[in-house]
Amino acid sequence: MPIALQICGATVVTPASVAVRDLYVENGQFVDGPAPARVQIDARGLLALPGLIDSHLHFNDPGRADWEGIATGSAALAAGGGTCFFDMPLNSSPPTLDGPSFDLKLAAAQAAAVTDFGLWGGLTPANLDRMEELAVRGVVGFKAFMCPSGIPDFQWADEATLRRGMARAARLKRPVAVHAESPTLTARLTAEIRARGGRAVADYLASRPPEAEWEAIEQITGLARETGCRLHIVHVSTSRGVDLVQRAAADGVDVTCETCPHYLALNADDMMRLGPRAKCAPPLRPAAECEALWRDLREGRIAFVASDHSPSPASMKASTDVFENWGGIAGVQSTLAIVMSHEPALPVEAIAGLTATRVADRYRLVRKGRIATGCDADLVLIEPGAMWTLRREDLLDRHKLSPYAGLRFRGRVRRTIMRGQTVCVDGRIVAPACGRLVTPAM
Ligand SMILES: [Zn+2]
Repeated sequence: MPIALQICGATVVTPASVAVRDLYVENGQFVDGPAPARVQIDARGLLALPGLIDSHLHFNDPGRADWEGIATGSAALAAGGGTCFFDMPLNSSPPTLDGPSFDLKLAAAQAAAVTDFGLWGGLTPANLDRMEELAVRGVVGFKAFMCPSGIPDFQWADEATLRRGMARAARLKRPVAVHAESPTLTARLTAEIRARGGRAVADYLASRPPEAEWEAIEQITGLARETGCRLHIVHVSTSRGVDLVQRAAADGVDVTCETCPHYLALNADDMMRLGPRAKCAPPLRPAAECEALWRDLREGRIAFVASDHSPSPASMKASTDVFENWGGIAGVQSTLAIVMSHEPALPVEAIAGLTATRVADRYRLVRKGRIATGCDADLVLIEPGAMWTLRREDLLDRHKLSPYAGLRFRGRVRRTIMRGQTVCVDGRIVAPACGRLVTPAM
């Protein structure tokens, strides 16, 4: 009997090698070849990377799907080479804080996701005794904010809450992911700046300085040491933040960090130019910081890259007072494009690690994140030399407010394949929603 699929002649990036070869797929997984196949895909001249896993984004479904939605968000992810996402517990409504809210989001994702997905649970003062319900259902981990989240129904966690929640997460064998900015420093600076009428981009940048990140990382790595909790710092925006994570890790704390495409591709001057489309927290940093983060990526000091796609309708970005605008960047489609386009180019093995393999390893997804026999046949075929410009009409997310529109990239996604099924060809979705929940191994 012929097997389902043969992908012919791609330059395949596996953990062990980069080589031109054929890939074989049966029952949605890579199998050993050679074997006759019912379908063949000619991939000569294309690079095959493991499908991107975006471990940090906000599709806001159910409840705030007018901000994005799982159907549009996952379509945009697939167009950018993604085959799996982890949705954050906010800004859906209700936020994912207990069993019933998990079940609602799971149903929404099963109905609409073009790609596979994992779900984060929340860690807030309101749901410490509901964390077990979330773990039983298969959350990839728990997300906590050390400062206000921007959403009233997702409370930030003070030190006592973090200590209790992290101890509980450790018992439940799940990591805690933390938004690390000091609440006291950001609140004090914001109050001072607002009191003197500050409302411009520069005022916003000054209200959330790097020191707020450093102070919070020092505090939270200390709590991880104390509780034995596996810790991950989301969206680190400074190289010194990465240093602090590395120092704690060298000292025995189980801690990693991610950065986001916007801290790599955009800087504080870009926010002056782009305005609210480039508002995020922590905010964009000076250009020298971007270069330092690229160095950290190259040296393996940052575990992986995640989009932190956090979109909103244009009406929530329309105020002339920057503080009033929604903070969140809509970039889910462009992670791979940004990572592939940097000069000097990162090695393709490093790109596979930063966008897939290390994500799967950190969150214990044993069948995801690598092109290897027995793993899910999730991959992206890329024309490596193609130069192209991102046009707004090419974006598949709901509001198309990407700050990357108009930028020029190298390396074009030609085809996204998930569990052996072609999901997207040249930016067009060609498969029905068939995403499944992925859960971590214990
Ligand atoms: Zn986020």
